[in-house]
Amino acid sequence: MSEQGQLPQRTSVFVLLWFLLIPAASAEGFALHTIQPGETYADVASMYNLPVDAVLEANGTQSVVVHPGDLIRVPLGEATGGYALPAPEPPPGFKLHVLQSGETLSAITERYGISMESLVGANPDLSSLDRLPVGVELLIPPAGTGLLVPWEQGLDLAGLIHHYGADPVDVVRANRLHTPNDLKPGMLLWLPGVEPTAALERLAKVRELENMYVWPVHGRITSYFGRRNLGMGTSNFHRGLDIAAPTGTPIVASRSGTVSFAGWSGSYGYLVRIRHAGGDETWYAHQSQILTSNGAWVDQNEVIGRIGSTGLSTGPHIHFEIRRNGTALNPLSELR
Ligand SMILES: [Zn+2]
Repeated sequence: MSEQGQLPQRTSVFVLLWFLLIPAASAEGFALHTIQPGETYADVASMYNLPVDAVLEANGTQSVVVHPGDLIRVPLGEATGGYALPAPEPPPGFKLHVLQSGETLSAITERYGISMESLVGANPDLSSLDRLPVGVELLIPPAGTGLLVPWEQGLDLAGLIHHYGADPVDVVRANRLHTPNDLKPGMLLWLPGVEPTAALERLAKVRELENMYVWPVHGRITSYFGRRNLGMGTSNFHRGLDIAAPTGTPIVASRSGTVSFAGWSGSYGYLVRIRHAGGDETWYAHQSQILTSNGAWVDQNEVIGRIGSTGLSTGPHIHFEIRRNGTALNPLSELR
């Protein structure tokens, strides 16, 4: 915490009033780039189609020495055509977290002791909560809910604060705004206490769509889920849905996920199991050919194998199961 963060309240309010009356000064915007192992300033410059000097200047350095993990500024200008990474200068107290393989957003909220609401508030432009690729940079807010909004030239700070129903004093403090020159186009303003309602609603809809199951193959349903009569007074419980289709017909992943098993499994014949976000698993049995492998990530509708009649089977079909916490669900109530 710098001494700037501990201004007496009277000063903050005075500064705030000054600021609401004077329009913001203009300045260049920046994108942030994390240096990868082996990467140089020259690599970054060429990636963004910029002269090396421009990148060095943006970082106030003449030395070309840079280390993996260093966060450097990439000037956003005509040369970049407004390129990529729109997230410059987070407010004080924010951390940057790079999404690792196998890491979920819930794990990140736990690690930093923040709520999912806070994480979404600090990253309201995420396209998904469950399908972000490894390497995505997430901003970690200090504590409490809030909403991060980009400051653009010409915006009216008072109007923005009013629009979101934020507390002006809290906004000034959280962003350590002392003079109008502290407002730079492209910078991100943290609005403490503002719920990221729109982002949460959008992400909930995305999650609902992502969690839907599609038919792994289309054909004729030859056996439904549930108890079935096997004749001669015997019956068993059928844990899946049987769909008949010609041998060789492609089978697709019902939902995106990671292949948790691909191989021979007794009466299931050639079987593929896919684990989905949230822990559900789908099973695809009796395949003639498996076209994926254990540990592979598959997108929804991606081909994973071909219809066959391997294992305990009386003709070419797929035996399809959806399991939640190890218990088979009726696929017909889940399929869209
Ligand atoms: Zn079956």
